[in-house]
Amino acid sequence: MSTQTVNAPQAHQVSMFEAVLARLDEAARIMNLSPEVALVLKNPQKQVKVSLPVMMDSGKIQVFAGYRTVHSTHLGPSKGGIRYAMDVNADEVMALAAWMSFKCAVANLPFGGAKGGIKLDPRKHSIGELERISRAYAVAMKDVFGVNKDIPAPDMGTSGREMAWILDEFNKNTGEDSPGVITGKPVAVGGSLGRDAATGRGVMVNTLAALMKMNLNPKQVTAVVQGFGNVGSHAARLLAEKGIKIVGIGDHSAAYYNEKGIDIAAAIDFVAKNDRNLKGFTGGTEIDKDELLMSKCDVLVPAALQNVITLENAGKIQAKLIVEGANGPTVPEADAILNEKKIICIPDILANAGGVTVSYFEWVQNKAGYYWNEEEVNARHDYKMEIAFEAVWNNSKKFNTSMRLAAYITALTKLEQGVILKGAY
Ligand code: GLU
Repeated sequence: MSTQTVNAPQAHQVSMFEAVLARLDEAARIMNLSPEVALVLKNPQKQVKVSLPVMMDSGKIQVFAGYRTVHSTHLGPSKGGIRYAMDVNADEVMALAAWMSFKCAVANLPFGGAKGGIKLDPRKHSIGELERISRAYAVAMKDVFGVNKDIPAPDMGTSGREMAWILDEFNKNTGEDSPGVITGKPVAVGGSLGRDAATGRGVMVNTLAALMKMNLNPKQVTAVVQGFGNVGSHAARLLAEKGIKIVGIGDHSAAYYNEKGIDIAAAIDFVAKNDRNLKGFTGGTEIDKDELLMSKCDVLVPAALQNVITLENAGKIQAKLIVEGANGPTVPEADAILNEKKIICIPDILANAGGVTVSYFEWVQNKAGYYWNEEEVNARHDYKMEIAFEAVWNNSKKFNTSMRLAAYITALTKLEQGVILKGAY
């Protein structure tokens, strides 16, 4: 019998939690982090796995695996999204939960980190099935979630629609009306203006901040955006609005390149009418999807999946700046190649922190019962992101290290205080 747990990654797969630990160890060494604090942070506080039996439209029951990992609550209630994807497993959820702790710390939010997910392919289920699965998950997690305890949000494969179902089911089960128990909701049921575009907006703010440090004028810069879902499409649109020429875009269905610049509004229009797929878009030349990351550009925004920048392709990347819209797009072994090539990489825990930052504003608005206009949300977001960027940049100079390790150092400096001040048994 195999001694592997059901959810352990296969031998050929990269363990995402190992990727977290590799960076944590490296940052801990550079900053001289207390080994006891490192020990606490290497062990997630709570891991929950549930089985969700749900009736399919066919009349047959299927059982889905649901997860929620709370990595840390040292700096506040835990916060982090819920993803629906086929590769959801305990290792991945644990890594993503730890990244949420670091991301919230980097962005100066009063939150710890968590992540959840259900192993399913959302494209293979009807809306009715997705609703029943989401509601079953909310019931199963009713003792985990809480407005001052653990606050979920959307992630890959989920959106405001799923958040509204989960909110409704949670509130029915607890008998309270607590809109702040989940964020990323549609505006009509307590969501925040600006939340939908927030992660892409954070990518844009980080890109502009980095270009400024690099003495590059956005109006003379080209970018490639890999991934055209919530993060990639908003990032591409906002970067283009700032004068950056988007020369390449791609998703799971196809990739396109156009050195004259892609009309992003037309691409967004196209996917809206084409079942959220880019395949068939005529605003550029179709290229191999795997070539997109290596195509000619100044700025590369991986905004799709994890583990896409690898030992095999890192050496062929032409960009001077990488801004990680996705969580975990670069494997640890590729970091060394990027550093050697002097490519500046704005890491996920800083670059995509815009989403959780506006989630925080949503939670604050829900608690106060008072709602802000979009300009106010965006202005507060931009300010928080700029401060976070500056802190990480300064740490990269102070410790003479990459932006990734500087972001870990920034996060660990805060988490260290939380762990020490709150103490142990
Ligand atoms: N899922 C998003 C992330 O990875 C947002 C999390 C949140 O808003 O809580 O950052």
